[in-house]
Amino acid sequence: MPRDSYGRDIHYLRISLTDKCNMRCVYCMSEDMVFQPTEDLMTTAEILRLVNLFARLGIDKIRLTGGEPSIHPDLIPIVRGIHAAGITRSSMTTNGLHLADLAQPLKEAGLERVNVSVDTLDPERFHRVTRWGHLDKVLAGIDAAEAAGLTPLKINAVVARGFNEADVVELARLTLTYPWQVRFIEMMPFGDVAGFAQSATISQAEIMQRIEAELGPLHPIDEARLDGEARLYRLDGARAAVGFISTVTNPFCASCSRVRLTADGHLRLCLLRDDEGDLLTPLRRGATDDQLEALIRNLIWRKPWGHGLPDGVIPLDRLMSQIGG
Ligand code: SAM
Ligand code: SF4
Repeated sequence: MPRDSYGRDIHYLRISLTDKCNMRCVYCMSEDMVFQPTEDLMTTAEILRLVNLFARLGIDKIRLTGGEPSIHPDLIPIVRGIHAAGITRSSMTTNGLHLADLAQPLKEAGLERVNVSVDTLDPERFHRVTRWGHLDKVLAGIDAAEAAGLTPLKINAVVARGFNEADVVELARLTLTYPWQVRFIEMMPFGDVAGFAQSATISQAEIMQRIEAELGPLHPIDEARLDGEARLYRLDGARAAVGFISTVTNPFCASCSRVRLTADGHLRLCLLRDDEGDLLTPLRRGATDDQLEALIRNLIWRKPWGHGLPDGVIPLDRLMSQIGG
């Protein structure tokens, strides 16, 4: 397993299959977003070649993301290829619009589970946050994912002031009825949506206060120690946890075990730092597997300790949708 210069074992890869999306969430991209030309993005064969190299290096967990991974025309063959590479811990983060049709084929192709992003349970506000999304389709997708066994299912919600801060209560209430972990993600600043992210951020403390005022105490699970990237709590009588991913105010850099492959084939070493290494150009120029493996190992070695937001260093080169959140 590759190790970075701080001694962290890196065994988790997130792959952005495409920077394109069928929604336009206010905190993620502008409505007139310009995407990268398709020829600049990894082909399916290139994705799977890199997946096999990462598997050989010791990566044992992969998440597909984007952009919206479910609009990739080869999503099912890619999932099959990941499984064939020996990686059984595979998941996908999706906006859920296509899940109703894709859940069963994804499970059959070897996908283990999904995270679905739902920022509010109010159809009109959902449309306002996502611009192009339809809540009913997403909820149908969640039902299909559960029926197909893409579980344990997790719901991701980004909270933006002026959009959905009041909705955190109804989202947290889901955990009383369903076995779905509901995670509140702190907004992060990227590129030209950085200003919005910084002005509309809501603290974990405020979200907790809103939930507790309506639903009672949130009890820390395992002293709210990190479970992956989330700190977990539970409401009395709940079937699942409420999680907080507070990357900006409460970072989890010390236990970070991941790197990201951007849709255009760059290895992104930290979500919130622009430092990357290009894998696609050497691959297209005929690099051997051994050469690519050495390149990946060297890049991972130089993974930075953590993000620089407290020092005012904001990632400007890319948006979340290109990196793969
Ligand atoms: N399209 C898929 C989705 O929305 O689930 C996958 C890609 S999306 C970039 C992955 C996750 O990043 C989503 O849960 C989304 O809400 C979150 N996200 C997007 N922009 C963000 C930002 N500026 N700060 C924090 N989270 C963000
Ligand atoms: Fe698309 Fe996901 Fe970004 Fe929303 S958060 S615009 S669904 S990539």
